[in-house]
Amino acid sequence: MTEIPAALYENDPTYQMAVKQLREAAKLLGLPDEIVEVLRHPEKLVQVKIPIRRDNGKIEVYLGWRSQHNSALGPYKGGIRYREDVTPGEVVALSMWMTWKNSLAGIPYGGGKGGIRVNPKQLSQRELEELSRKYFAAIAKDIGPDVDIPAPDVYTNPQTMAWYYDEYAKIIGKPSYAWGVVTAKPVEIGGLYARVVSTGYGTALAAREAAKRWIGGIEGKTVAIQGFGNVGQYAAKYLKEWGAIVVAVSDRSGAIYDPNGIDVEEAMRVKAETRKVTNYKKGDVKIISNEELLELPVDILIPAATENVITKANADRIKAKVISEGANGPTTPEAEEILHKKGVMIVPDILANAGGVTMSWIEWCNNRMGGWLTDEEALERLDRIMTRNFNRVFDEWQKKYSEYPMRAAAYAIAVDRVVRAMKLRGWI
Ligand code: GLU
Repeated sequence: MTEIPAALYENDPTYQMAVKQLREAAKLLGLPDEIVEVLRHPEKLVQVKIPIRRDNGKIEVYLGWRSQHNSALGPYKGGIRYREDVTPGEVVALSMWMTWKNSLAGIPYGGGKGGIRVNPKQLSQRELEELSRKYFAAIAKDIGPDVDIPAPDVYTNPQTMAWYYDEYAKIIGKPSYAWGVVTAKPVEIGGLYARVVSTGYGTALAAREAAKRWIGGIEGKTVAIQGFGNVGQYAAKYLKEWGAIVVAVSDRSGAIYDPNGIDVEEAMRVKAETRKVTNYKKGDVKIISNEELLELPVDILIPAATENVITKANADRIKAKVISEGANGPTTPEAEEILHKKGVMIVPDILANAGGVTMSWIEWCNNRMGGWLTDEEALERLDRIMTRNFNRVFDEWQKKYSEYPMRAAAYAIAVDRVVRAMKLRGWI
């Protein structure tokens, strides 16, 4: 095989980690190196220049990317993030993870991801709107309801999607067709309320199913949740509804812990009103640190904040028997190995946080059919899909890969599906 020149993203550590995971999955599946070589590069990586006029009258230029990793299973799908440290390598890695996540979810999408290198907190609402519209206009000919369907990610939200949708609708002049170009839109313009709760709901569903198979059910089990944003809040709400006792939740201000259980609605109210969950005052609540939360004597742990929080430094002290990864990449490979040996089940991120993109698919289908679905129907569908997918991965893990953590089985299933589609289409 001829060497291709090193690409712009190849030295990036996040990208290298994604490639390492791909190589491990390929090894389990007995796939040759040449297939890894095909899969480790995105099909297309677009870079765009976004000059905007700041409120102070000056022009400032930002860079943005959209990585289209693989389309064997369908149009590219994945979010767009705004962060000052976004790199093309990170965007490519994340687009590869979307390929696996969507494949594992059994939804008809390939993987994509986008990002703009910007600190959104330094921009006014008007500047953010100009940035978002210009970015979307710049990538407009590479995306579309049948080609590539973005969604929110870090520091983007339904308002960002509204600007994207509007910009695209103006460019192509077909407003109802344009609904399908982005998901997680506001409900007034083609979105579903169910999408707001869906990532947290999905992480809770994964924890519920894991509890059934690993620790005798969810009822009466104690739960600690790191991160009380969109994912953590709805995971807490649904787990409590199903009879679990949420004893601790946290945000950047710290964690609240009450062994008798937190009043989740009250914590959500406190968070919405004061932005700090540590202002919660009910019962015998104690303030602890985010690190202490991870080591609490609980049955279930949900890391729903950020990456690399469960490491070889604290893995030994973790007492939970089930971990459902709401965040992307919260557990390092070394920590996963330690926990696996201790008999802890870790539901991997590509399975546990797939509720968001799965609901995106439901929203997209709903848009294409003119909008007939209710939120109850949408959530019921998500429950059915996630329950089926969890149990499928669990069974395959136990049957073929039980000497490895559950993530190995998830990756094997996901990569295998993509490779089979590529073979059927005659790509390899
Ligand atoms: N950004 C989310 C993820 O990483 C959602 C993607 C989507 O809905 O397309 O899964």
